[in-house]
Amino acid sequence: MSTTQTLEFQAETRHLLQLVIHSVYSNKDVFLRELISNASDALDKLRMEAFRDKDLQVDTDDPHIGVTIDAQARTLTVRDNGIGMNRDEVVALIGTIAKSGTSELLRQWKEAAESSAPDLIGQFGVGFYATFMVADKVTLVTRRAGESQATRWESDGQGTYTIEDLDDAPQGTSVTLHLKAVDEQDGLFDYADDRKIREIVKRYSDFVSWPVRLDVQRETAEGETVHEVDTLNSQTALWARPKGEVTKEEYDEFYKSIAHDWSDPLETITMKGEGTFEYEALLFIPSHAPHDLFMRDGRTGIRLYVKRVMIMDECDVLPEYLRFVKGIVDARDLSLNVSREILQQDRQIQLVRRRLTRKVLGTINSMLAADDGRYTTFWREFGRALKEGLLSDVDNRQEILEVISVASTRDPLQTTTLRGYIERMQEGQQEIYYMTGTSRALVEKSPHLEAFRDKGLEVLLLTDPVDEVWTDSISEFDGHKLQSIAKGQVDLGSGDSEDDAKPSREEFGDLLSWMGSVLTEQVKEVRLSQRLTTSPACIVGDDFDMSRTLEQMYRAMGQ
Ligand code: ADP
Ligand code: MG
Repeated sequence: MSTTQTLEFQAETRHLLQLVIHSVYSNKDVFLRELISNASDALDKLRMEAFRDKDLQVDTDDPHIGVTIDAQARTLTVRDNGIGMNRDEVVALIGTIAKSGTSELLRQWKEAAESSAPDLIGQFGVGFYATFMVADKVTLVTRRAGESQATRWESDGQGTYTIEDLDDAPQGTSVTLHLKAVDEQDGLFDYADDRKIREIVKRYSDFVSWPVRLDVQRETAEGETVHEVDTLNSQTALWARPKGEVTKEEYDEFYKSIAHDWSDPLETITMKGEGTFEYEALLFIPSHAPHDLFMRDGRTGIRLYVKRVMIMDECDVLPEYLRFVKGIVDARDLSLNVSREILQQDRQIQLVRRRLTRKVLGTINSMLAADDGRYTTFWREFGRALKEGLLSDVDNRQEILEVISVASTRDPLQTTTLRGYIERMQEGQQEIYYMTGTSRALVEKSPHLEAFRDKGLEVLLLTDPVDEVWTDSISEFDGHKLQSIAKGQVDLGSGDSEDDAKPSREEFGDLLSWMGSVLTEQVKEVRLSQRLTTSPACIVGDDFDMSRTLEQMYRAMGQ
């Protein structure tokens, strides 16, 4: 049965399409990168599925990406013989935007001036929908590997799409663009011109590991149609080439294609392991956080290859707190059908994981040292994720502490590193003072701060919920004790003059024991203190007590 259904795009998708169609995003060429990267992913997935399930009736013969131009009809088709999609998947993946960043993109778009739309597209990426920058109608025909029913999807990007069953179609997906009229002023080049297509593929997709073949049809003078087939990409794995021979642009394009990002990465990391276990790694620190950074359970951004063949995505070769890092690891001596479970226990892989982790932390440290703004961007985007590592990665605590930034009483606008704090410590000061709380404003009002402010002692203000937890389990950095100013006895040094002014225990003894007896239900002890200058009293925790905020957190949870 072949039913044609006309369906409406989900509201968000409609908005996004409007944004794409009316955008003046100058670099419209990238639509082809998006299509080729989807096709390449589909071929990777097919290969992985075929490995996993040997009985699967799929065609893995001559996997490739084909590009066909029909200059007469002004259409451009990109097809792959990869995994394909069934009808439900087409509706879910193409008719709907499931990308978690989309609503954020649209929110920002509404808030921002019209003119910044191109930047937003560049920042969020629009994947498949980028085709509507250059086409006024897009037709997708697909058949999932192992299934017999094919599906045809078509849309002009204006609000609805049609979907129908097809009895027959080759395995995989083909996407045909009915090209808009050429308008070079508007960045719309002639995408039915094979020279333009060759140039774009070379520029954006040269390293794609599957062949991208161009099939040009031409009418000869005698009215015959002739075909010419050319492989457009060199397919050389970027990580296999010596670092000095790869340009920054090539690395950036590679990053964009594997990370589904439209912006350049902040930092590129290459690594090579030799000896008993050989591997190459090419990692990237993105320049902005994905919108699901705190919603992704344990997924990493690393793809695992074995001798240039991708065998697993979201692979566990980096700890979870570094989940924002994207890239690939190519290991020479792994089995092609290694499972996630086996990988987790593999000692060599654990070793690679430790090395990559250190390398990433070292790279963050050198961005910090370079002091050229990249670290500031890094910290804004990924700082909170990185701090999780203080709890989960006990081995690298000191390295992580080395690169974290925190607010401090020194400057309301600037954060500081712990090292920076130590460099500014006063003569004789041994401890790193900090105070935790739920907001900077609240912490700053705290009477605990008075004496420190008075003596010009800098105090770190830690107001992230995770700060409560790590400060609880980490006691020192670089030989200096981390001291909460709201806990225990804080020795503020004893200048002589102050000793004279010290209120004496005898003088206030009666008052203290009276207060202690009145407050016996509420406090353990009432003490004289030098911490305060203007407030008459404050509540202090014992060294090993839960901090006030943590206590409140537990209370709120009903414990
Ligand atoms: P992304 O690639 O970032 O996931 P896209 O908008 O490019 O976003 O594609 C959305 C989804 O549609 C893909 O994740 C994939 O599941 C599916 N898809 C797109 N193109 C193909 C294709 N050629 N073959 C199989 N699935 C595809
Ligand atoms: Mg894509």
